Parts: sequence; structure tokens; C-alpha cells
Amino acid sequence: MDELGRKSKELIDYLVLSGHLKKKYLIEAFKETPRHHFVMRGYQKYAYDDIALPLVNQATISQPSTVAVMLELLQPKKGDKVLEIGTGSGWEACILSKCVSDSGKVVTIEIDEDVAEFAKGNIEKLKPKNVKTVVGDGSAGYGPDAPYDKIIYTAATPEISMQALGQLSVHGRVVAPVGSLLLQTMKVVEKISLGKTVEGSHGTFQFIPLRGKLGF
Ligand code: SAH
Repeated sequence: MDELGRKSKELIDYLVLSGHLKKKYLIEAFKETPRHHFVMRGYQKYAYDDIALPLVNQATISQPSTVAVMLELLQPKKGDKVLEIGTGSGWEACILSKCVSDSGKVVTIEIDEDVAEFAKGNIEKLKPKNVKTVVGDGSAGYGPDAPYDKIIYTAATPEISMQALGQLSVHGRVVAPVGSLLLQTMKVVEKISLGKTVEGSHGTFQFIPLRGKLGF
């Protein structure tokens, strides 16, 4: 095993031991999606530290433990259609692509053209067949591929929009950091029937802000 492979194993062992990563299929998806393919040139040596890292234009690749928490809450399943709002590096989209398998689909939308271009290059390295990248404002979701089984916001949002909830299937769930520019609560919203949702909160986090029509 090379140096990066050893560091990747150490990070995943840490995420499991610390309780961030629990489900077997998620542990496998993390193993199969090496983070060093998704960081900027020069940052490979930090790819397996549990920290967010800079991308282009103020975007960041999220901290691994935060991605683990969010995906444990999202519960992406084989065959699910997932919308990710905020592609960033493309790392989380590729982890999701493993979770939903080829019978599922990941639609990921990124508002910043340069970031989207960077992500596309990264995603292509893993050659997933089920990831669609869209350049645009995802603050109101993305209508053309709706409905989704799962929706994940990877940027801080003032609220989970009615538009996004409208694009969610019955029994679907949304995971999003909701709050102010400074601090957010990780919210999970489940659509239990048409027009009825239940909500839970799972700790505080700091994300970069959602931009666009319904962003900050
Ligand atoms: N999960 C990503 C990290 C995303 S960081 C990863 O694995 O790397 C959040 C991203 O959301 C940034 O790239 C930012 O440009 C993007 N973003 C912010 N507002 C957005 C919007 N309205 N629509 C789509 N993307 C948005």
C-alpha cells in the first residue's frame, strides 16, 4: 500500500472508531472514493486529515467527519435518486454514487462555473455512470430530475425551501445545515406523507454560505 493508501485507511479507521461512520455500505463507499483525487494540486498530502480544504473561488471540500455525519443521516440507498446542492470538489457526489449504485442516480448542482469545471475533472477520474453534474443555482433545488428520494445541501442555508421539499418523494429525506451565516444546525426533514414532514436536529456546524435566489 502506498503512503496515500495508508493515510486513507487511517482516516477511515478514525472515522469508524470515533463513531462518525457506522454503516458498512458507507464505510465501503468512503474506501472506494479516495479523497486525494478531489483536492487541489499541492494539497494531496493533507487529503486524509480530518479538515476542510480550499478549492477554487472560496469553495471548500468538506471535512471528512462532517461528510460522514451527513451521509449517515441521509441514508442513501441502492436505487435512490439523490440531489446534492453544492458539488464543490465532487467527492461527496462520488461517495453518494457508490451508495445508490448503478440502479440509482446522483444529480449534483454547482453555482460556480470554475468550481463545477474542477469537480467534473475530479469526478471523471472515477468514471461513475450515475452522476449528472449541473451548473446553476440549486437554492430552489433542481426541477428537471425531480422527484428525489434524498436531497442534501452542502452549503449553509437560511431554510429548506418549499421548492426543494416539493421535489422530494413521499418517504424521502433532506439533510441540510440550516441557520445563520455563522452557525448552522444539521437538520433532517422526512416527508412522511404528501404535505406532512417531521424534523430532527443533529448538532451545530459551520458551512460556507449558500448563494443564489434563496441563499444568503
Ligand atoms: N460536498 C462538497 C463540498 C461543497 S462546498 C465536496 O465534497 O467537496 C459547498 C459548495 O456549494 C460550494 O462549491 C459552493 O460554490 C456551492 N454553492 C453555493 N451556493 C450554491 C447554490 N445556490 N447552488 C449550487 N451550489 C452552490
